[in-house]
Amino acid sequence: MKLYNTLSKKIEEFKSNEEGIVKMYTCGPTVYHYAHIGNLRTYIFEDVLEKSLEYLGYQVKRVMNITDVGHMTSDGDAGEDKMLKGAEREHKTVYEIADFYTKAFMNDIDKLGIKRPKIIEKASDHIDTYIKMIEILLEKGYAYQAEGNVYFDVTKFPNYYELSGKNPEDLLVGVREDVEEDKAKRNAADFGLWFTISKFENQVMQWDSPWGRGYPGWHIECSGISYRYLGEYLDIHCGGVDNIFPHHTNEIAQSESFLGHKWCNYWCHAEHLNDSTGKMSKSKGEFLTLSLLESKGYNPLVYRLFCLNSHYRSQLVFSYEALDITKNAYQKLLNKVCSIKENLEGNIEEEVITKYQEKFKIALENDLNTANAVTTLYDVLKENCTNATKLALIESFDKVLSLNLLKEEEVDTELDTYINEMIDKRNEAKKNKNYALADSIRNELLEKGIELKDTREGTIYQIKK
Ligand code: AMP
Ligand code: ZN
Repeated sequence: MKLYNTLSKKIEEFKSNEEGIVKMYTCGPTVYHYAHIGNLRTYIFEDVLEKSLEYLGYQVKRVMNITDVGHMTSDGDAGEDKMLKGAEREHKTVYEIADFYTKAFMNDIDKLGIKRPKIIEKASDHIDTYIKMIEILLEKGYAYQAEGNVYFDVTKFPNYYELSGKNPEDLLVGVREDVEEDKAKRNAADFGLWFTISKFENQVMQWDSPWGRGYPGWHIECSGISYRYLGEYLDIHCGGVDNIFPHHTNEIAQSESFLGHKWCNYWCHAEHLNDSTGKMSKSKGEFLTLSLLESKGYNPLVYRLFCLNSHYRSQLVFSYEALDITKNAYQKLLNKVCSIKENLEGNIEEEVITKYQEKFKIALENDLNTANAVTTLYDVLKENCTNATKLALIESFDKVLSLNLLKEEEVDTELDTYINEMIDKRNEAKKNKNYALADSIRNELLEKGIELKDTREGTIYQIKK
């Protein structure tokens, strides 16, 4: 399998440390609010990567954390604690907030066909591991104590800027005006490993430590949980591109300094989902959630297909118009599969199976080209082979695509045929400049709760709930 590695900035042939086994760590959500559909794009990518590796014969050991402590409103370690902010906003305790939004997150990923990682761990459950690691970092001289806190000294780690390709000057430009610089640090890029209450007095989650009562920095939790569950060598570490700096950069610095050797070989990052105004982010106030899409009548799997149709390393712009096109395509896909199921005949043709499985694998092996993998599915539907063969291939591909192609409740094929006939009639009327007839067809459908939309790719319909 070929994968783009952020560390080498090249597409590389993937090779796991242990034959046939992949140790994969994926940064989980900060549970202070609902995940937005941009976050969910990253989790869809990680799910497809895990399932692709399995499809190619690997056994994947995947771990994910739940950030319920330590993540500040800036991605460094300044500003307010995101969890505390969530609790203040909703007049709840941080524990209630963490519990509520963890459940909401699990619900979202289930609906998107994302397999829950085998190991999901709360950051607040592993304080002893972080303390042990910090003690060793202090012992080895990578960390120092200042004004009650413990910081990592980035000048002690020569490859600090390797992953991000940044340099110390970029960092100074990046300092946000509203974030007060931490005077206790030796260098601007140093980051917190342990904070005591002297820094953030109203921090609710606190633990005793050799440096005083306090709590861990955000970055140490991923290094700690990964070390505890996956050991000293990691094959793949994933996240969204915004995690490259400082989060993953800091993870590498502290893990490798602690372990005394290279830690993770492949760093894979998903590009962002943007809306028409730019990057989607929770701090912007209004943001798109999966429940919002559902309330507008979209099956979450339509959003999954929307993501699969583009490459994970390309930015993707969200619009309802584009989602409507995918919704239509998804419905047609289900209809086709449904008619195959209803007309099952013939034997399974092994040579056709091998040919298309090979094609599907080639798409996945090519740095996870999911759009080509979906095209291969369409090619199968058009292939001149038995329906039994088609069904076997659909079942096989859906192990990775997870579009619920076989289990989805039956779609109303009769209604779909009727609407498509009406659309054809309307198009014919428009072609003949008979706009009165075209409008009356549109209105007739509208009265039945079926709304037509003219897009560049043709007319699509939406059934109002
Ligand atoms: P957070 O809950 O903020 O820690 O983010 C969860 C995941 O979503 C991380 O892997 C981020 O890198 C990723 N992420 C954040 N914003 C976006 C976005 N607009 N598009 C795609 N992924 C994102
Ligand atoms: Zn992380």
